[in-house]
Amino acid sequence: MAQITVSLIKADIGSVGGHTRPHPSMMEALKDVLRDGYAKNIINDFYVTRVGDDMQIIMTHNKGIDNSEIHGLAWNAFVEASNVAKKLKVYAAGQDLLKDAFSGNIRGLGPGAAEMTFEERRSEPLVFFMADKTAPSAYSVPLLNIFANPFKTAGLVIDPRMHDGFKFQIFDLIDHKEITLSSPEELNDILAILGDTTRFAIKRVFSKNEELGIAASVSTERLNLIAGKYVGKDDPVCIVRAQSGFPALGEILQPFMEPIFVPGWMRGSHNGVFYPVSVEESDPTYFDGPPPICAIGLHVVNGKLQGLEDPSSEVGEHIPVDYFKFPCWNHIREESMRLNVAIRKQGSIMPAILPPEEMEYTTRPQVLEKLKDRFTKIPQK
Ligand SMILES: [Mg+2]
Repeated sequence: MAQITVSLIKADIGSVGGHTRPHPSMMEALKDVLRDGYAKNIINDFYVTRVGDDMQIIMTHNKGIDNSEIHGLAWNAFVEASNVAKKLKVYAAGQDLLKDAFSGNIRGLGPGAAEMTFEERRSEPLVFFMADKTAPSAYSVPLLNIFANPFKTAGLVIDPRMHDGFKFQIFDLIDHKEITLSSPEELNDILAILGDTTRFAIKRVFSKNEELGIAASVSTERLNLIAGKYVGKDDPVCIVRAQSGFPALGEILQPFMEPIFVPGWMRGSHNGVFYPVSVEESDPTYFDGPPPICAIGLHVVNGKLQGLEDPSSEVGEHIPVDYFKFPCWNHIREESMRLNVAIRKQGSIMPAILPPEEMEYTTRPQVLEKLKDRFTKIPQK
């Protein structure tokens, strides 16, 4: 069986009426480019969706990760959608396309990518997480709970293929270094590193069973660091393989049954609690948030995607399961809002706003610079 690659590439290139949702004709522009990519045999299949103001392209292909043809196709799709956005004068048209020309892959150009290559199992269910108004470290708490917490993920205790644990590849997003650590043996070290959400994020998780391979992949691009100024939050995506040697779907969604504080929200400068929600209801309209998290499910079947749609549907026309749509998540949403209302009462004072190292691209450093001569020494005894 050939190795299959799944690429989830995302960008915010504008939305209607403020930071809400892309215009439907922008989504259509993406699809047109991807249909063309399918016709030219660049990709096996695709699906276009969104969370809040971020557009997502899911593609399956046989070209591996970081492939220039695949990334180039996604880049061209975003450029075409951006042209539509500019014509419609939607808010922040072209926002995440930070460079004028494509070069090799989308790293450093603005869009974010989560990708994984694997040998397709007898059944290959995938969960695609998509977050708006937050940063890559937002996935640290859920991924640790899914893959390293035997108190939560029963499979770590009772599934022989998961009992040895998982390996975590962690990125230092400031110094561009990486380290891979093994859970449970090095779990305390993993937690010591990931506790700093300003610098560290999980990039990939691997099964210790080499036949199974990669278990999860996260987009870790940091927009502000690339642009050197504030241009919106990274709004990261994450792919997780489910079942049969990997955590069960319920174990993958379980971490979102509890409040998860994440950096982002208004102007990418606040802390808020993840709001698990359906794609349709993911428009961030409450203080430009709270940070919505969507989760959709599709299978990979012979290198193509399959959801609830008729298998003979046109390429790219899929109907995924929308996990957070169901009313059983209502009380989580209520709990999230209760905490979000509470933290909003603290205005722009920490911990409602992010620590200084995360505020580098706001006016805060300029204010401190302007006032520096007015600070006078306090005599010390
Ligand atoms: Mg966004």
